[in-house]
Amino acid sequence: MKAHSIASLVRPCIARLTPYSTARDDYQGELGVFLDANESPYENGYNRYPDPHQAALKALISPMKGLPVENIFLGNGSDEAIDLVFRVFCEPRVDNVVAIAPSYGMYTVAAAINDVAVREVPLGPEFSLPKAELLAAADAHTKALFLCSPNNPTGNAFAREDLLELVEAFEGIVVVDEAYIDFSSVPSLAAEVRRYPNLIVLQTMSKARGMAGLRLGLALADAPIVRLMSMVKYPYNINEAAQRLVADLLRQPIDDQVACIVQQRGVVAKRLRALPVVERVYPSDANFLLVKVRDADAAYEHLVRRGIIVRNRNRVLQCAGCLRITIGLPQENEKMLQSLAEL
Ligand code: PMP
Repeated sequence: MKAHSIASLVRPCIARLTPYSTARDDYQGELGVFLDANESPYENGYNRYPDPHQAALKALISPMKGLPVENIFLGNGSDEAIDLVFRVFCEPRVDNVVAIAPSYGMYTVAAAINDVAVREVPLGPEFSLPKAELLAAADAHTKALFLCSPNNPTGNAFAREDLLELVEAFEGIVVVDEAYIDFSSVPSLAAEVRRYPNLIVLQTMSKARGMAGLRLGLALADAPIVRLMSMVKYPYNINEAAQRLVADLLRQPIDDQVACIVQQRGVVAKRLRALPVVERVYPSDANFLLVKVRDADAAYEHLVRRGIIVRNRNRVLQCAGCLRITIGLPQENEKMLQSLAEL
């Protein structure tokens, strides 16, 4: 897709928008007497508005992602970025999006909130990417295609070539949600946003990075898309505490934690396969396992009674009989395995 055609995808009201200009946009010096933002003058560490452009945090993230800051949008969780795709590109009741199913539930919830139809395309055999069906589902009003790799809740990652084939063939925005990419053996598509003007790669600090409570998600994309999303977001979408704490925590390495979770994933999968109640453990590139059991509702209730909470996916398309089990600490996994072994 050509860079200039991104403009043709944008909602008319957003193309016309004059975004809110903050006090900090008008004057950007560090020192001075700040009487411009109606803040409290009494210093307590948080009395000033946070940087709406998150410059310091982006400067820290940029070398980590190998992308210039102009390709980085920061959201209040990647959920904010998902919502912004609708608010920027999809005219309510007119446009639609295409998404794989089953996948992360917020694509359809954000679509419903924005009054935009979702054309769900079931995954192929063994949760494979239904490329032809996804392209066939699109029409002149399809603005975006939502893909998730590794996919939640199936756990599998799609081949890089297959994802890029869709990015090239699809006449709209292609969102590739990489929330679980740190646990995957398939490399990220992040660097590709410099080559494909219609690609948005979502990542998050909530999973491997261990900051779900701080709410920080990334949308990596070509600069025009980052500019559009930045125009539409709330000016102060990342609060001061989150900006500071994420920066502090990003300096701590997580390689050992990720390695341990990936190692445990293999151990837990093997042990689960040996249990009488388990019918199938699906391959996973994420920090969870999709597990088909004899009676999912009964197994779920049994685990709850033992104080172990997993996600019951029994009523999700193509996941009948399945629990989604997050990989925890070794002793937590052990407790879960022992409880399932009682069935
Ligand atoms: N994408 C996927 C695939 C997810 O599973 C989740 C959370 N479960 C998110 C995005 C949302 O992440 P965040 O915490 O960054 O909003």
